[in-house]
Amino acid sequence: EHGTATATIMLMGDTCTRGCRFCSVKTARQPSPLDPDEPYNTAKAIAAWGLDYVVLTSVDRDDIADGGAEHFAKTVSNLKERNSQIMVECLTPDFRGDLAAVEKIAQSGLDVYAHNVETVRELQRHVRDPRANIDQSLNVLRHAKAVRPDILTKTSIMLGLGETDRQIYNTLTELREAGVDCLTLGQYMQPTKRHLKVEEYVTPERFVHWEEVGKEMGFVYTASGPLVRSSYKAGETHRDRDTR
Ligand code: SF4
Repeated sequence: EHGTATATIMLMGDTCTRGCRFCSVKTARQPSPLDPDEPYNTAKAIAAWGLDYVVLTSVDRDDIADGGAEHFAKTVSNLKERNSQIMVECLTPDFRGDLAAVEKIAQSGLDVYAHNVETVRELQRHVRDPRANIDQSLNVLRHAKAVRPDILTKTSIMLGLGETDRQIYNTLTELREAGVDCLTLGQYMQPTKRHLKVEEYVTPERFVHWEEVGKEMGFVYTASGPLVRSSYKAGETHRDRDTR
């Protein structure tokens, strides 16, 4: 089988309105306004690269009324107009639980709706910006699936932040209950000294264990390993769906 050409593109600038304790993206209360031409120009550029799969992601823009949902959706629809074959994954913010924003993106023509819960329920406050929480994130994933049962939903969890096996297990159970299809688990790596410390380097064997647990629980696709990142092997998601 031939390889899959994949890229991850960040929309809506390089400055986030949030400050998660694991993330090294710049933070500001009021980042630069959105570039209204970005959806068109980005779609045009991506279409020209001849990719099989693209991940569109963004910073959180709590300063914008719809959190940038329209901007995301326009990028997808522009891209699909130019190249209907390309597989598009959107890795989105939680939009502070604004389900109309989630719906706008879910209906944009994408193939995979991804939103990361990042860590187990018990460590949400410790790891993520206080405006984020797991119930809000589960609602995002549940709603994307409810409005478009034909798309895949996907999330990612970092291990090594001090979570217990029981907490991981329970969080995976909650994700399945929310209808999440695809799961990735990777090792947390501290980006700078000012960020959360790594509590544990999880062994490759434990990652294999969690991959097996994911399969048993019925996730369509589970990628679990020390070097797995949230967009890792994104293209495989597509193939797994085709062979389901
Ligand atoms: Fe980083 Fe996303 Fe948190 Fe912003 S919301 S600080 S980009 S992880």
